[in-house]
Formats: sequence, structure tokens, C-alpha cells
Amino acid sequence: MSSRTLKDSPVAEPAGQSADGPLLEVEDLHVEFVTREGVARAVNGVSYSVDAGETLAVLGESGSGKSVTAQAIMGILDSPPGRVAGGRVLFKGRDLLTMTEEERRRIRGRKIAMIFQDALSALNPVFSVGWQLGEMFRVHEGMSKKASLVKAVELMERVRIPAAKQRVNDYPHQFSGGMRQRIMIAMALALEPDLIIADEPTTALDVTVQAQVMDLLAELQAEFHMGLILITHDLGVVADVADKIAVMYAGRIVETAPVHELYANPAHPYTKGLLRSIPRLDQRGQDLYAIKGLPPNLLHLPAGCSFHPRCEQATDLCRGERPLLSPVAGAGGEELPGRRSACHFWKETLHG
Ligand code: SF4
Repeated sequence: MSSRTLKDSPVAEPAGQSADGPLLEVEDLHVEFVTREGVARAVNGVSYSVDAGETLAVLGESGSGKSVTAQAIMGILDSPPGRVAGGRVLFKGRDLLTMTEEERRRIRGRKIAMIFQDALSALNPVFSVGWQLGEMFRVHEGMSKKASLVKAVELMERVRIPAAKQRVNDYPHQFSGGMRQRIMIAMALALEPDLIIADEPTTALDVTVQAQVMDLLAELQAEFHMGLILITHDLGVVADVADKIAVMYAGRIVETAPVHELYANPAHPYTKGLLRSIPRLDQRGQDLYAIKGLPPNLLHLPAGCSFHPRCEQATDLCRGERPLLSPVAGAGGEELPGRRSACHFWKETLHG
């Protein structure tokens, strides 16, 4: 049976889902890249949702499809060669994928904003940061140059950039990496969006600055009651800020769970491997664990479970049959809210 005909069960919500329904629902999303070598299925039936005030961390190695999913949500896929091949992206119940480009442009920035990994290339080097922050208000709200600069200073103060008034006319290269990332956050917050998608927002920063930027992002998200999708390859940065996690591998979600449950007791060998590879103080001096091998070529996905060539628990069943993302049960047989695993042996992984 073709894997495209199989549909994973949607990600169930942990307790606390808003009565009005999710802010964003991604349903069975497929994204392909047409290359000379063939069609790369970068996103292969991904479903997840985020409520207002909630943080979903989407975790995976490079090439897992986490950023491509975000680009499809934002409508900024490189197309061609990329194209959405199926699925729906419902924002407040309306499918973004069927909107006109004009409608999507109105939603981008105003309702859904994005924070990119590399602030230096996301900011324009020839305009001051005040000008770039102010542009949001000039373009979207028709504000005057003077009024927009006042707003820019307010935003810079909001993200705790010291001496904002004096620095509003400085250029991006005059700020440190951490300060530039704060400017990116300010830019995303400018129009008070309902949802922010942050794609590896702290990867380029050192560990101390990473923690400060993540704390700031979490604080502002709670204050503005926004939904936040935090895309990262680093399990270490999400423990304190996310409510729930979706782990992606080779274009699919392989595990979902409320954040603390996933850390305490993963139900997928890939997640288990990622957790083992986080450096720990009590293992100082020991070699860091690394999952063997590399993620598969998306042009030639392995048969069965995509993770089987790297999995220490793989059997013939894994090599022949793809496991669907399915509910996970506790030791007493009760379904665990929000928990799904795409592993034939989730029971052994979870309870073993
Ligand atoms: Fe490993 Fe098999 Fe589970 Fe895939 S299905 S993660 S190969 S045990």
C-alpha cells in the first residue's frame, strides 16, 4: 500500500483546549519539491494544532520538514520547486491555502508573524532598526514617519533593548546577535498578531543569550495570549517554554505529547535518542550519545518505518510496514491525552 494513502490519526489535544476551537489547525498537510532527480516529499501528512496562549514546539533534525511546514503555513514556500500537494491550514477556521494571495498578505505580519533564525539576514542592513520597525506601522496602519518612530522606540523598550531612544537610528550590524534577535521579536510583535511562528529563534546565539531570548519570548507570548509555534532541533531549549511537542522525522510527525510527559517518558525510539543526546551535568567527561546514521534522502524514503535504518529496536515488521501515528495508553490501558506515537513498539518504548 502506498504510504500516501495512509492517514495518520490527528493530534489529539491535551486538556485545556480553548472552547472556541484551535487558533491554527494543520490537517494532513503534504508539501513536495519537484527536482530533476524526482519528487521529494518534504512534508507527508502532517497534522497539528495550536490554541491561543499555547506553545507548540515542533522538533526535528534538519530536513525533517518542520520549517517547510511553517513556510507552507505562512505562504512563503519557494515555489517552484516547492508546492503544497494536499491538506488544509485552518486559521480561526478559515483555510489559508484557499485564500487569494492578497488575503494571505493581509494575514501575514498582522495576524500571523514569523521570527527567523538569522536576524542579520532577515533585517535590511541599509536601513536603521527604527526605520524597519516603524515600517510595520507606516505600511499597515498608515502612520506618519514621526509617529512610527515613537512606536519603534516603544517596541525596542518592550523587548528590553537598553537606551532604545538613543539606539533607534542605529543599523542592524551595530547590535549584538542577542539584541538583533530581540529586534526580530519586536518586529513580530508590532501588530500584536494572534500567532507567532519562531523558526530556530535562538540557534545562532550562545547558551546564556539563548535562555534570555527564550524567556523574553515566553513572557511576551503569555502577556499577549498569543499562540506560539516554536520550531527547533534542540530539545534542550523547549522544556521550560512549550506546552506540547510534536516530533518530526522525514516529513512526518512521529510523536506528540505534553512537554513534561515527553521528557519523562518518550514513546518513540527517535525521541528517546534525542533525549539521550542532550548534554547533562552528571555525565561530564563522558562521550555524548548520538543517534547513529543520518536522516533519509526524501527522494528515496525507506520502506516501512522511515527511522528503521537508524533504530536500535528495528525488526522485520518495522522494515515492511509503516507505523501510523496512533494513541498511546498508560500502564492501566487508559488513553493518554495528547499522546501519539508512530512506532510499532511504542508500548515497549514507553513502559519498557
Ligand atoms: Fe524503531 Fe520499529 Fe519503532 Fe520504527 S517502528 S521507531 S524502526 S521500533
